[in-house]
Amino acid sequence: MRAHPLTCLVLRKRDLGERDRIVTLLSRERGKLDAVVKGARKPGSKSSGASEVFTEARVQYSDGRSLGIVTQWDIVRPYAELRTNLGMLARAAYMCEVTERMVGEGEPCPETYDLLSAALTLLQMAHGDPDTVVRAFVVRLLGERGYGLSLDVCVRCGAALEPGRGLALSPALGGVLCVRCSPSAADRIRLDSDVMPALRDLAGASLERLAHLTLSPAAGNQTDRCLRACLRYRCESDIRSERFLSLVRDGEA
Ligand SMILES: [Zn+2]
Repeated sequence: MRAHPLTCLVLRKRDLGERDRIVTLLSRERGKLDAVVKGARKPGSKSSGASEVFTEARVQYSDGRSLGIVTQWDIVRPYAELRTNLGMLARAAYMCEVTERMVGEGEPCPETYDLLSAALTLLQMAHGDPDTVVRAFVVRLLGERGYGLSLDVCVRCGAALEPGRGLALSPALGGVLCVRCSPSAADRIRLDSDVMPALRDLAGASLERLAHLTLSPAAGNQTDRCLRACLRYRCESDIRSERFLSLVRDGEA
């Protein structure tokens, strides 16, 4: 079995038998894949700490009969704080699950990899509002995966969108509807006047600007509702870790 070097993030882990672990990885080179980490649950094993969720590492990957096998973990970023701080854990787990749901098996996706890696780094740096990081991540991930939201022109008629009252977002059409078109979409979510500028910032603002962006509670709730609906439409079901994230957010309020 030939081993290939991969740079990867651990999206998820589960136990396999008494000693081993299966990890779902997002790799820069080969996209999403599941692999066995032998001996990962043996006390004191080097791969035990290395194959924790959110870890970024360089590994050796070999194709197996059903699952691949990962050996030689060289940690690039441990992201340990994301596992010990409850607020960070809930947000990182959510972003990893969304990524897992939006990326196909074995499909190289270096841009998506870099986006998730940057979002985890920003989250751990704890600059600014952590929910801004999550929201910007989701908006940009939709764009990376080919489902970018139309925020400059009406997704139905193509008219330029002016921020203001009467706009709505259609998850199925994938963007904002102008005042004239919004009544015609059955799945429309009405947008308060400050939500579309916020969505534009989340989609395109520099990291420096994002670090200073905090949405009002009302705009945040509406933005979350829009993004949840877009993800549900694309993934065809809810994101499981969303409930955990909202419980953690409620506890922070
Ligand atoms: Zn229109």
